[in-house]
Amino acid sequence: MKAIECHNVSYLYPNGLKAINGIDFVVEENETLGIIGPNGAGKTTLFLALCGIIPFEGEIKICNTELTKSNVQSIRKDLGFVFQNPDDQLFMPTVYEDVAFGPINLGFSKEKVYSCVKKALLDVGLSGFEDRITHHLSFGEKKRTALATVLSMSPKILLLDEPTSELDPWAKNRFIELISKVEGTKIIASHDLQMIIDLCDRIMLLNKGRILEITGNTKDIKELYNKFNL
Ligand code: ADP
Repeated sequence: MKAIECHNVSYLYPNGLKAINGIDFVVEENETLGIIGPNGAGKTTLFLALCGIIPFEGEIKICNTELTKSNVQSIRKDLGFVFQNPDDQLFMPTVYEDVAFGPINLGFSKEKVYSCVKKALLDVGLSGFEDRITHHLSFGEKKRTALATVLSMSPKILLLDEPTSELDPWAKNRFIELISKVEGTKIIASHDLQMIIDLCDRIMLLNKGRILEITGNTKDIKELYNKFNL
């Protein structure tokens, strides 16, 4: 099955900037696609379109269903979007409340919410952090909590925006290891070429809102990355 299909997807910000321009690609179920490109390439805008947060032009299908205004709420359940900045994702007083927020909104019973939170915290190596004050956590712990807030809802597709930015080398390696263990379909956007090569089956090279290449051949990507001086 195809997890994501994008056909001729574009988005013009209200200031007239076309941040993504005629984007076409497919992601197979359980595939990990990397999106590599410099700052301003359109990576975050593409994620916002995939989640139906911005009114894009073109067609997006998530798990074979076309994304429309009327079904965006239900389709969003299939997508787990981990923001670049964990402070944009975490807003509850404690780690438990943040990680429980999604499952509670999905209408799960108290017992199911509890087990989803426990499992998600175990998966990100934060068991025992339930009662910690979220805004007192280290940056690396916040990133892992933000990942847990999404994993607790078991999304079919995980979207990770610059997952390793601003992490120290130890926290970065830890986070990469966690991501590699998460099952399902993943799209990882970054300007860190080596991390993308290490984690992804195929890589999309995005620049100025357009796809320059999509390939599973890392040598091609390295050459193009250098050729375009990205
Ligand atoms: P990336 O995630 O690859 O760094 P973005 O999707 O954030 O790229 O940005 C793509 C382009 O859109 C950039 O030129 C950026 O300045 C512009 N942009 C992003 N957000 C807005 C906005 N809210 N209004 C206007 N332009 C924006």
